[in-house]
Amino acid sequence: MGTPAIEIRDLRKSYGDVQALDGIDLTVPEGSFFGLLGPNGAGKTTFINVLVGLVRKSGGTARVFGHDVEDDYRSARDHIGLAPQEFNVDRFFPIREVLEHKAGYHGVPRDEAAERADEVLKRVGIYDKRDTRFDWLSGGMKRRFMLARALITDPDLLILDEPTAGVDVQLRRELWETIVDLNQRGTTVLLTTHYIEEAERLCDEVAILDSGRVVDVASPEELMDRGTDDVVIKLREAPTAVPDFAAEDDRVEEVDLDGERLVVTARQGGLVAPDLVRQLDRAGHEIVDLEIQRTSLEEVFVEMTRPEEERATPEVAVE
Ligand code: ATP
Repeated sequence: MGTPAIEIRDLRKSYGDVQALDGIDLTVPEGSFFGLLGPNGAGKTTFINVLVGLVRKSGGTARVFGHDVEDDYRSARDHIGLAPQEFNVDRFFPIREVLEHKAGYHGVPRDEAAERADEVLKRVGIYDKRDTRFDWLSGGMKRRFMLARALITDPDLLILDEPTAGVDVQLRRELWETIVDLNQRGTTVLLTTHYIEEAERLCDEVAILDSGRVVDVASPEELMDRGTDDVVIKLREAPTAVPDFAAEDDRVEEVDLDGERLVVTARQGGLVAPDLVRQLDRAGHEIVDLEIQRTSLEEVFVEMTRPEEERATPEVAVE
């Protein structure tokens, strides 16, 4: 196995009494599309800021492609392209110039910088705005520009902090396409998002962060399998009784019969459904419709982070 894109051991950051990062262990393999999910204040931005050298850690180690983010800052930082949540952009220059300056700062010769600026502006679809000031771009174009700026140094690790915050569905999809394409060409992506659909669609793996700790690391699919799905079956005629599904399969948690409509709540509903169909068929019931309402990552996420939050409240009160 090669060097991981990100390797974090017991990472800590405190602000006074607040443990923004409270012993994080995390490995992001090269080439992966990795999501960082967590409620407000979980520590996502602090985590990113440590990686890019904007925040000094209080303890532990953080490496980017094997380079320590503090002892070997320049090498670590040169691997990273960052699109932060906030628009920290020089607003008075045409955006193409902003990109050229940025490339220059990272040691790219002038001619090549101009070429790259054009290339990334085309890639995110705002090349025709190249002579416009950042201030004069629309909200969606500003988001595109943030991505272009992150790409100007041709990074191996692209860090996106809420890349589609506040943009419409159409643009969100376009940005997704661009990012997926980059990932498929080998760029490692670390993404934080509040749009669970985004994580579900894009990420191979997500880490759920809460109160500065990693609660879990798994694929979105694995996480969703922990929640329960509803298998909704419509029968031709309202039955008086149905087979005891829960006795047959311990993934079944609840069975609810309402006239012709049978709702079976189960983990891994997609795998349970064929068995349900077989049993109903054997018992002589005719099925006219079947639908599986999958649990969303959002539901699992809320479930996983809620108890932590409840526990956090009294501690805050004591301080
Ligand atoms: P959000 O989803 O709202 O962006 P987040 O997961 O990015 O949240 P952080 O911004 O990393 O969370 O904040 C983690 C904790 O650290 C919060 O309790 C926050 O108040 C605290 N914190 C962050 N930056 C500072 C700072 N500069 N000074 C003091 N406390 C800070």
